[in-house]
Amino acid sequence: MTLEHTLSIIKPGAVRRNIIGQIIGRFESSGLRVAAARMLRLSQEQAEQFYAVHRERPFYAELVAYMTESPILVMVLEGEDAIARNRAIMGSTDPQKATPGTIRFDLGKNTTRNTVHGSDAPETAAAEIAFFFKPDDICPRHE
Ligand code: ATP
Ligand code: MG
Repeated sequence: MTLEHTLSIIKPGAVRRNIIGQIIGRFESSGLRVAAARMLRLSQEQAEQFYAVHRERPFYAELVAYMTESPILVMVLEGEDAIARNRAIMGSTDPQKATPGTIRFDLGKNTTRNTVHGSDAPETAAAEIAFFFKPDDICPRHE
């Protein structure tokens, strides 16, 4: 087991539906801790840069449009194996293929409007955290 940090985003639709607390509650009850959090609205340029890895994919324009629609909550989650644990709590990308009890199955609308984002590996977690937070913004939550 490794103590990790991962980037979590509560996407625009979930912020608008006012279910931030429900989502954070699921992270907390699964052993993850919020080590940093900020609400912001992504610019077109920021969203394009954040999702640059998907630039050639057919859903890129729709994804960028969705992510810039209204504010998001960006968070650093801390915990043992936080990266994989967060992905398990989120469930599969497509809510219809996700396991019941996961955030995306229970709260997601479709593959684009799937409620949450989570980093997928240590390298991407470090890069995605640095995209939104300075080192001083992150408050270690472990004893
Ligand atoms: P995330 O990176 O958001 O945690 P993920 O790793 O499960 O999700 P990726 O393949 O990295 O999925 O895709 C990033 C995001 O792009 C997804 O969360 C989803 O919103 C959107 N997306 C991915 N695949 C599709 C698709 N086939 N159609 C529409 N949107 C998609
Ligand atoms: Mg991904």
